[in-house]
Amino acid sequence: LFSPTRVRVQAAPTRVVRMEAKASARIGDLGVRQGFVDSVGNTPLIRLHAASQATGCEIYGKAEFLNPGGSVKDRAALYIVKDAEEKGLLKPGGVIVEGTAGNTGIGLALVANARGYKTVIVIPKTQSQEKKDMLRLAGATLVEVPAVPYKNPNNYVKYSGRLAEEIARTNPNGAIWGNQFDNVANRQAHYETTGPEIWNQTEGKVDGFICAIGTGGTVAGVGKYLKEKNPNIKIGVADPMGACMYNFYEKEVLESSGTSISEGIGQGRVTGNLEGWGLPERDGGCIDFWCQVTDEEALPLIYDLLKQEGFCMGGSTAINIGGAIKLAKQLGPGHTIVTILCDLGTRYQSKIFNVDFLKSKGLPFPEWLDPANQDTS
Ligand code: PMP
Repeated sequence: LFSPTRVRVQAAPTRVVRMEAKASARIGDLGVRQGFVDSVGNTPLIRLHAASQATGCEIYGKAEFLNPGGSVKDRAALYIVKDAEEKGLLKPGGVIVEGTAGNTGIGLALVANARGYKTVIVIPKTQSQEKKDMLRLAGATLVEVPAVPYKNPNNYVKYSGRLAEEIARTNPNGAIWGNQFDNVANRQAHYETTGPEIWNQTEGKVDGFICAIGTGGTVAGVGKYLKEKNPNIKIGVADPMGACMYNFYEKEVLESSGTSISEGIGQGRVTGNLEGWGLPERDGGCIDFWCQVTDEEALPLIYDLLKQEGFCMGGSTAINIGGAIKLAKQLGPGHTIVTILCDLGTRYQSKIFNVDFLKSKGLPFPEWLDPANQDTS
């Protein structure tokens, strides 16, 4: 086992700076955000033209890449921290420990900076360099571990749990474990914010919502909220290859085949965030559509999205848009479907926008992506 005791956390800040403006000094509400916490959420819905045209539906992406930490996970990070504060578990100068594919860690590190905490992030070595660089830049202490399955005690999630216990014992200001997979503060963020935003932005005219599962917080929280508003709304899961959730919904077995280069998604178990809310409808949950999306189907969607519509998105967004198209085909023309634009493609430039990497994985890429074909005319 890796020894958690070897991880040194930086000294806690000596002074917690609270810089909120006095209510009397605040200017009006027209697009003004009162600092970091207030900047999370309320993202726009963006019409995806090509996906809409191909299906005869209205397909929208919720622009989560516009959150201050650059991903959908800022919402979960903020709720995990607020929940720990409300329960009295997090004291000024305390340490937030988390196992993450990167985005939750980035969100936590930034929330921590804004609220006077430290972060220690455990991340599988296989995750993109860009996310690791951002984590270090944000001030997180990074612990890179081999990418091993959940059942292995050195899996990044389990490792981070042990590390949190260790730091809580030795750090005078204490430590908490974010535990994003099983901590339901995660899905609560989407139940209280993302879901209502989608309902309001579509004026209640949404017919379907679909996204992939990492922790399951997004699909469970949004799905539960929308189903309560209108039980006819289809709630879908788009599963990347190598994940078990499609087979779980289809036949209640946790089996997978194939692989995907997408990061932050691809689950092999029923997480605490999926329990209850994110189960299939027959078991009392809100999920009533599921599909698998291959990288071969998904990646061309984001290459075209960049070239034809101007949005540079990451790999999980590719799976999400692929899923939205499948749900649109199931519902038929004339329906309104929402999915999640999780984060920017620049976070994976060395992978999904790198021809050598794609070639090494035997994946398709458009000619224009090859630097040898650069347009100099
Ligand atoms: N996309 C990306 C890029 C992510 O980092 C994550 C979270 N790990 C997800 C999608 C999935 O979101 P959730 O954890 O809410 O299922």
